[in-house]
Amino acid sequence: MSREPSQGFIHYRSLLSQYPSLHIHSPLSGIQHSPAKHSGSSFDQLDLKPLKLAATHKWLEANTSRCLCQYEIPGGGECRDLDCQAIHPSKLSAIEPSDKETAEYLCSAMPIGSQWTVEVVKTALEESRQRHPAFDFEHRVREAAASLGLR
Ligand SMILES: [Zn+2]
Repeated sequence: MSREPSQGFIHYRSLLSQYPSLHIHSPLSGIQHSPAKHSGSSFDQLDLKPLKLAATHKWLEANTSRCLCQYEIPGGGECRDLDCQAIHPSKLSAIEPSDKETAEYLCSAMPIGSQWTVEVVKTALEESRQRHPAFDFEHRVREAAASLGLR
């Protein structure tokens, strides 16, 4: 990686750390005894399922005119007809939200989201797609986050 998109944020953080007294007077200081689980490892705990579910719902809403493939429901099999225009439950899990939707979700779900803009995250997702075309959705989101300095 030759680009450093998060350089401005590092500077921002170091500014804050010069003023430790800001934390002492924080109203949250009363819960110091609990381990700092809520900061730091937040990305690992991020649940991408609601985002994928929302994308699936949206897709289904846009395709209400189609019927379910009878080979899969009630057939219980997996349709192998490439020309079949019906809805295939076996393939619904492959529906992915757009990079913009993903970026908006990440920015709203992350406690440190205020340091990111949707545009920055969206660009990171697009770059990750180019670097790793074979990655699945979740893998790609995590790789993009890592490129932004998150884990
Ligand atoms: Zn089918």
